[in-house]
Amino acid sequence: MKPVFFLGLLMASLLTVSAQKSSTGLPRIFLFGKDYVRIEDWARANGGQVRWTVPKQEVRVTLKSGTFIFTVDSRRSVMKGTTVWLSLPVAFKNGSAHIGSVDITTAINPLLNPPRNMAGRPVKHIVIDPGHGGRDPGNMEGKRQEKQYVLLLAKEVGELLGKAGFKVSYTRTGDSTIELPERAAIARRRGADLLISLHFNSADGPGGSAVKGAETFCMTPARTSSTNARGEGSGAGAYPGNRFDSKNMLLAYEIQRAMTAETGAEDRGVKRARFQVLRDAEMPAALVEAGFMTNPSDARRIYDGPTRRKLAQAIVDGIVTYKKIVDRK
Ligand SMILES: [Zn+2]
Repeated sequence: MKPVFFLGLLMASLLTVSAQKSSTGLPRIFLFGKDYVRIEDWARANGGQVRWTVPKQEVRVTLKSGTFIFTVDSRRSVMKGTTVWLSLPVAFKNGSAHIGSVDITTAINPLLNPPRNMAGRPVKHIVIDPGHGGRDPGNMEGKRQEKQYVLLLAKEVGELLGKAGFKVSYTRTGDSTIELPERAAIARRRGADLLISLHFNSADGPGGSAVKGAETFCMTPARTSSTNARGEGSGAGAYPGNRFDSKNMLLAYEIQRAMTAETGAEDRGVKRARFQVLRDAEMPAALVEAGFMTNPSDARRIYDGPTRRKLAQAIVDGIVTYKKIVDRK
């Protein structure tokens, strides 16, 4: 009796697993303790085609809205031409590529089935947060301080947003110290519809000057790892910023897409981080790292007024595209 009972139990549990649907509505499989779905199943459900461009390594999914490229054992993906870092690496199993269910719901769906604002609540008021300030210079490159250049960029972004019809305000307009918790609080008190935090990167050490490109961060979804973490942080629960996971992703994506397409900056991708300004934001928010102060080609976009203005225009264009998508007519 015992072995038969055990076999029966085993078969029942196998059947349960294969018949179970994940949060994506697709059949799921557990890999490394996480919920995954076959990329072929996801593609088919969306009317797409799957093609291995490098056998067992790179898979391309062509949907009506664009091409999605995934790499086995990697979290880097390219979605409609822009890099997006997944929460879980793509996995190869039983001859098929698999993607984390969490990545379908939090990274892909916001782009394929974008979130919408409530009728009569268009994106209107934007708070721009120039990073650092006062006692905190941010990154340094020689005598140049990040806090000075993000303030210049912020004012250029604000001026262009104003021309595009937005109401704009700032967490700081001068060289003042603003504590991190205060930044999202300012945006909340003003009833802002979006919070955009602006920063520049730097890379030290040998070879540091070769590191370049733009990246845009949005809040890490609950119980997943941030992009620059090595698996840690997956136990973290939900913060206020997680109420807007879908809009956060769409906003970061559109800013990153416009920045890289319009300025020629290297595409370091949309990334996830639990930065305090993103954690605390009670409205959709993104944190832009618009280039490396330590790289000669990025530095031109940062320090040279007319070139920086193009960067500001690209950020504004990304925000305008986001607004067009989420606002109800
Ligand atoms: Zn910074």
